[in-house]
Amino acid sequence: MPWMTIAAYCPRCAAPRADRAIPLRCPACGLVLFCNAAVGVGAFIADASGRVLFTVRAKDPGKGLLGLPGGFVDAGESAEDALRREVREEIGGTLTAIRYLCSSPNRYLYAGVDYDVLDVFFAATLAPGELQTDADEIAGMRWLHPAEVDPAQIAFPSMRAAWQVYLSGLP
Ligand SMILES: [Zn+2]
Repeated sequence: MPWMTIAAYCPRCAAPRADRAIPLRCPACGLVLFCNAAVGVGAFIADASGRVLFTVRAKDPGKGLLGLPGGFVDAGESAEDALRREVREEIGGTLTAIRYLCSSPNRYLYAGVDYDVLDVFFAATLAPGELQTDADEIAGMRWLHPAEVDPAQIAFPSMRAAWQVYLSGLP
């Protein structure tokens, strides 16, 4: 259920909501509030031999499944800057090349609230150096050749769709 449908009161004047429609339109104070998709970013990071870096997700949604380095875009941040920041935070790496791949809608259920997300995917490479995972976010890292990747182990449908786009662009 989209998050705004769970709000029982106007967030400005606290009038009870007669309906849970989106956008929120408060008849008491006139507030109109939209509920657009959040933006997520993720990267298929390849090494020189073509292996791709997947993360093992430490938390739900998708706990134990394959994920990608990435996360949510902050207000005022570009998708590329968000990707660089998340890669630095999650795996301690510095991206050297970022190329747009595709985007795909996603639903992200967290703490009982269902968020609409637009996931934006990139292909990227890493600067040389040791990686260090953030154990709160990531249970492990796996460098996998494309043939070793079982799509059923990829955490989100949007990520599975992007993986197919990534594979179709390989030489
Ligand atoms: Zn109101």
